[in-house]
Amino acid sequence: MTRVVIIGGGPGGYEAALVAAQLGAEVCVVDRDGLGGSAVLTDCVPSKTLVATAEVINQVRESGELGVRIGRSAPDPGDVSTDIATDIAKVNARVKALAHNQSEDVGRSLQREGVRVVRGSGRMAGPDRVVATLADGGTEELAADVVLLSTGARPRILPDAEPDGERILTWDQVYELDELPGRLIVVGSGVTGAEFAGAYNALGSDVVLVSSRDRVLPTEDADAANVIEDVFTRRGMTVLSRSRAERVERRGDGVVVTLTDGRVVEGTHCLLAVGSIANTADLGLDTAGVTTDERGFIEVDKVSRTTARGVYAAGDCTGVLMLASVAAMQGRIAMAHALGDAVSPLDLEEVAATVFTAPEIATVGWSQQDLDSGRVQAVGIKLPLTRNPRAKMQGIHDGFIKLMCRPGTGIVVGGVVVAPHASELIHPVSVAVSCRLTVDQLAHAFTVYPSLSGSIAEAARRLHVRGQQAPRKDS
Ligand SMILES: Cc1cc2nc3c(=O)[nH]c(=O)nc-3n(C[C@H](O)[C@H](O)[C@H](O)COP(=O)(O)OP(=O)(O)OC[C@H]3O[C@@H](n4cnc5c(N)ncnc54)[C@H](O)[C@@H]3O)c2cc1C
Repeated sequence: MTRVVIIGGGPGGYEAALVAAQLGAEVCVVDRDGLGGSAVLTDCVPSKTLVATAEVINQVRESGELGVRIGRSAPDPGDVSTDIATDIAKVNARVKALAHNQSEDVGRSLQREGVRVVRGSGRMAGPDRVVATLADGGTEELAADVVLLSTGARPRILPDAEPDGERILTWDQVYELDELPGRLIVVGSGVTGAEFAGAYNALGSDVVLVSSRDRVLPTEDADAANVIEDVFTRRGMTVLSRSRAERVERRGDGVVVTLTDGRVVEGTHCLLAVGSIANTADLGLDTAGVTTDERGFIEVDKVSRTTARGVYAAGDCTGVLMLASVAAMQGRIAMAHALGDAVSPLDLEEVAATVFTAPEIATVGWSQQDLDSGRVQAVGIKLPLTRNPRAKMQGIHDGFIKLMCRPGTGIVVGGVVVAPHASELIHPVSVAVSCRLTVDQLAHAFTVYPSLSGSIAEAARRLHVRGQQAPRKDS
């Protein structure tokens, strides 16, 4: 029986463990901080649970237009908000309970498949040997035919912005707050910064978003990012563009953020969202012959092989694409490859991803930037949701559907959805990209009337004609 040892029980590790067990291997997972990893305990699950509360508040706050009156509020939609408050202690208790339950669910799944779990810190002592330092200080040596490294990543800390867990916070510390931040300064306007800024703004904090670039979400579709920035400012958030934080200091019950241009921003709390660094420093990688890049990420190929024979790596510790879904896929691919099952190499063009702001941004396949730079030949169309009948009924004023296809064949190569629940709406586009469907096939499938997905079919229909023409943008 092949002995598989996995270091790290996040999505990269536990999904791999399930596949390996199903393929008949003897599997052991060494995990330090709790099954489910950061994805379940500190990152995805907690943040999306927080966002769920924010989403309801946003909906209620903007429901005056639909004739909703709450409490003593006046018919003026602007007055609805005065009657809404967030019980942040309750929200955070719910977040932590949900994360804990999810972690236990992962444990039960592993147990059902006969996977052994060792609680402790793992490191390699050669390509076929893992040493686990257990919680009681003891050690256990585990022989392995196959090793998977899936140790994840942790928040990057700026040298002059040391988190104190009370006022200066990383994203995994916010759930300990028992009071809603009065004025929250979010440093970093990437996906994590934008999600938290939007959520706390909805929960009732006065939010200042410090963004070092021209616009928020600099790596996302520019049209989508512009929608989010407009919505942020309309909802009262202060967005400081082209502003880089140099120093964050605690002053009594508040924080002071000094920007590189000398400006000073004061708040009650500061959330640092300036990226992640790989958990690869103390893994004994040298002893096993596993190489990392200059930033410390483990180098892997498309079937998750590292530079050492029999040693694979998956997830955030590889820096390939920091998503739970990608970590899980890399882990599954690794085990299929190692244990001789059918393997499809990782294809990043097919990854569907979402920014959980309100509205959400969901993307799959090639991007507008790929088209504009000439990297790929495609035609695209963008339909604003304001023309969609369901959107009108629901009072949705922001968002659009963007679809891209090959000019000659009409094969769908990418899409962007900016809408409430875009994370759900992107699926038909994702299926089309993955199965190489044409715009005509996508348009042929029935959509419900009225529905937001009707705009996906309409975009596909409009590309039927465009698909035969030279590339051109539309809006
Ligand atoms: C705020 C935030 C929100 C996010 N939201 C989403 C989202 O909505 N959707 C999405 O797809 N992605 C999201 N992500 C990204 C996602 O969390 C990561 O991509 C995912 O956690 C990566 O999984 P992983 O298995 O590589 O690592 P992790 O989930 O970090 O798990 C690694 C595990 O390894 C353990 N470990 C580390 N070192 C050792 C060691 N030496 N020995 C034993 N165990 C060790 C850790 O304790 C941990 O349990 C979010 C990230 C952040 C920061």
